[in-house]
Amino acid sequence: MTTMTAPRGTMTSARVRDVMPEQLPRIVMPQCDVRKVLRGQKALVTGANSGIGRAVAIALCQAGADVVINYRSGDEEAMRVVEDATHCGCKTNGRAIVHKADVSKEDEVRAMYERMFAEFGTIDILVANAGLQKDATFEDMSLEQWNTVIGVNLTGQFLCCRQAVREFKRRGVRPDVSCAAGKIICMSSVHDAIPWAGHVNYAASKGGVMLMMKSIAQEVAPYRIRVNSICPGAVRTPINRPAWETPQAYRELLKLIPYKRIGEPDDIARAAVWLASDEADYITGINLYIDGGMTLYPGFEAGG
Ligand code: NAD
Repeated sequence: MTTMTAPRGTMTSARVRDVMPEQLPRIVMPQCDVRKVLRGQKALVTGANSGIGRAVAIALCQAGADVVINYRSGDEEAMRVVEDATHCGCKTNGRAIVHKADVSKEDEVRAMYERMFAEFGTIDILVANAGLQKDATFEDMSLEQWNTVIGVNLTGQFLCCRQAVREFKRRGVRPDVSCAAGKIICMSSVHDAIPWAGHVNYAASKGGVMLMMKSIAQEVAPYRIRVNSICPGAVRTPINRPAWETPQAYRELLKLIPYKRIGEPDDIARAAVWLASDEADYITGINLYIDGGMTLYPGFEAGG
């Protein structure tokens, strides 16, 4: 199964940094059974027509949830997610609908929830995933770049979480559906912990998500509402294409990833299904880092 070419015992920890990717065990991706752990639940995934949100929406639907696929632009991509989520030959998948809305706009978020309640009746799971980058060196960063990123990545999550909590508290627990009155997953980032030069607005937004998530979790836990974050490392999506699309860039990226492969959207999607399910009941207020070890300070792997 593996293709390790270096002789046993020759790769000391001090030299791991210098090992070429070809010398490491070949990458085997997980093949996991789909289980209907979210049957009967109603989910909203924001920013779901691309990348991580797309994979999460499909996985929730495959796990049996009815899913609202939110997006801001890209009607065709959104419709393709509906196809992929519902038409893969499995009659036990949930339903999926698309809803175009800008999560940074309060009136559009309200209207999105009204539509969801009209179509699906309620909400059990929110995955607040929509996010973007507007990169610049700090001294060149415009207020517009700052406000746009904070507006979508932080204020957008606030607006979506608030509407969800209102409905969770109004409706309460339905024991035949879930142990919890509701589940929120905030899509954060390793950059809620790792500073990121040239991306001050993005890192500030994700750092804000961390304490927003934990504070909401503390406030609503007595109502049996679970609130957690998933913090991806480098995942192969359009948001970070320059970091993986050329062999040179990919090789540089692997220096930051002890597990020596880029993350795939499905790596995040599997965890989101689990975290939203009753299998993760009693988990609230955590940051779940899914990063191949990026937060293990890989710069120190050869000593320090
Ligand atoms: P992506 O660019 O593929 O997807 C972003 C999604 O957000 C798109 O569907 C886009 O339409 C949507 N969006 C942007 N602005 C919006 C708005 N105002 N209203 C509604 N939707 C909006 O990127 P991705 O990598 O899939 O990112 C998804 C989330 O994961 C983001 O929050 C991002 O910060 C986070 N993340 C990604 C990575 C990574 O390596 N890809 C790492 C850490 C965190």
